[in-house]
Amino acid sequence: MHFRSEVRYRGRYAPSPTGPLHFGSLVAAVASYLDAKRHDGEWQVRIDDLDPPRTVIGAADDILRTLTACGMQWDGEIVYQGQRRAAYQAALAELGKRVHVYPCACSRREIADSAVRGIEGPVYPGTCRNGMREASAHAYRIDTRGVTIAFDDAVQGRIEQNLENQIGDFVLYRADRVYTYQLAVAVDDAAQGITDVVRGADLLDSTPRQIYLLQLLNLPVPRYMHVPVAVNAAGEKLSKQTRAPAIDSQQPIPALLAALNFLGQQPPHDLARATITDLWAWAIAHWRRERIPRRREFAIPRHAE
Ligand code: GLU
Repeated sequence: MHFRSEVRYRGRYAPSPTGPLHFGSLVAAVASYLDAKRHDGEWQVRIDDLDPPRTVIGAADDILRTLTACGMQWDGEIVYQGQRRAAYQAALAELGKRVHVYPCACSRREIADSAVRGIEGPVYPGTCRNGMREASAHAYRIDTRGVTIAFDDAVQGRIEQNLENQIGDFVLYRADRVYTYQLAVAVDDAAQGITDVVRGADLLDSTPRQIYLLQLLNLPVPRYMHVPVAVNAAGEKLSKQTRAPAIDSQQPIPALLAALNFLGQQPPHDLARATITDLWAWAIAHWRRERIPRRREFAIPRHAE
């Protein structure tokens, strides 16, 4: 009789379709891909197109084409968050049964004026916790009082966060009717059966919020590994806003080698002349988590920006 192991590694790459793939997003793609392949696991791709004002038409297809040109083949169907609103709505209702989830009509201005600062800006002072003033448009927040979450990150080590003091009651559903990233990512990682989340360390501070939601929903919490984020010489994360150039899908090897170097994997120089297939064969066989720099970010050389 043939037994299959119960929990196979399943990783994912979840780009936001805000523009073409650039070096910063390629690093997260490469890290999640290699870690999945090295563990003989699956690698899924999910398009985080939840926020209509930020979504750029055609960007998702462009990212997928570039991944293909880079020789990174995903498993299964692509998941689009824009098609999963019913699941987020159900989770919001479920959370409301477990903990205090409340409507809030405070403006950013009002919050900024009355709040202490946390690690991501003002900590919501709890104004609407006991009822909000009359307003048509409102968000939904979740109570974080007394909540501390800790987890062990495979690269960044032990992380502990007091949600109440460092983040505050956070938004699950925005006044403009968009489910937030924190809610959607928790729901989707669980729905896709993701066992290992590998992504940039700019999301490290979000992880405790996602674990909190998963725990409340009685859903499995994946393992996490946050790799350093590429910043430019000015210390800004590479992004569309900082004009990071798109990866050249005609000649992806230099960018892939740069990503491997950034991740501390020390690819040999002669891989520059290898085929994509050979490059991945080397990279999968030599992937070492312990070589990844244990930092949240570092700068890439100016010519690579
Ligand atoms: N869509 C997010 C981003 O591009 C990443 C989501 C995730 O990996 O959890 O920054």
